[in-house]
Amino acid sequence: MIQMSLNGRVALVTGGSRGIGRAIVEKLAADGAKVAFVYNSSSTAADEIVAAQAALGFEVKAFQADVCDKAAAEKVINDVVEMWGSLDILVNNAGIIKDGLLATMDSNQWQAVIDTNLTSVFNFCQSVTRQMMSQRYGRIINMSSVAADVSNPGQANYAASKGGVEGFTRCIATELARRGITANAVAPGFIQTDMTEAVVEMAGAEIKKKIPARRLGLPEDIANAVLFFAQESSSYVTGQILKVDGGLTLGGI
Ligand code: NAP
Repeated sequence: MIQMSLNGRVALVTGGSRGIGRAIVEKLAADGAKVAFVYNSSSTAADEIVAAQAALGFEVKAFQADVCDKAAAEKVINDVVEMWGSLDILVNNAGIIKDGLLATMDSNQWQAVIDTNLTSVFNFCQSVTRQMMSQRYGRIINMSSVAADVSNPGQANYAASKGGVEGFTRCIATELARRGITANAVAPGFIQTDMTEAVVEMAGAEIKKKIPARRLGLPEDIANAVLFFAQESSSYVTGQILKVDGGLTLGGI
């Protein structure tokens, strides 16, 4: 029998119904974890993932919740622990964009992105910490973006949220290291999902020219990086931000 690295582990992935989150759910389940995921409105997609994973013999459960809601985050975490007895891996992946130039960006546009991309990370990390501390084990993986470092006009809200995610991740890594809990972030470049569909349609060929790997990333490229941080064997890696961008931010081209 193949020994899978996440056998016996329990994972929770936010934004698991589509794109990168879905690939992470599938990757962690294929590697042996029981996986719960949170979605907001895509209930048909969520049901389809649960059914497809069950057909493969994997235990995957979907929870509807708004990641901006702290009480909802706490409830999901309590439900997962009640259902499966532990929570070892938390992947804060849910995110949105609402681009617009600063001069015309309204407060809702700002707040929705900060709440969904950054406050949600606080909500889930704080709620999971007590459980992980009592286990003296945990793996927290937060989704950043290369936009935290290299920003385009029109993404002040998004860049601020992802810069916040990176600072938050480094800080909690120092707080939690002595408890056997690591906290790291993955910063994707251009990945082919619903989020990038419009810009890829408009400028896909130009974007590829700027990427040394000469291709857009796939959700699975990000899931592979998440799997590294999720494993027990990465226990001495914490507070790190891993860019997964085909070389986009190396500045060589
Ligand atoms: P996506 O295809 O648009 O999927 C977003 C996911 O987040 C969906 O599952 C969505 O649920 C969920 N979500 C959004 N708001 C939510 C809320 N309030 N409560 C619960 N779930 C919510 O996005 P993606 O491209 O896979 O991006 C995933 C993460 O990677 C994001 O944090 C994004 O910022 C980051 N990222 C993406 C790229 C890229 O090129 N795609 C690059 C850098 C970073 P529903 O399906 O129910 O709406």
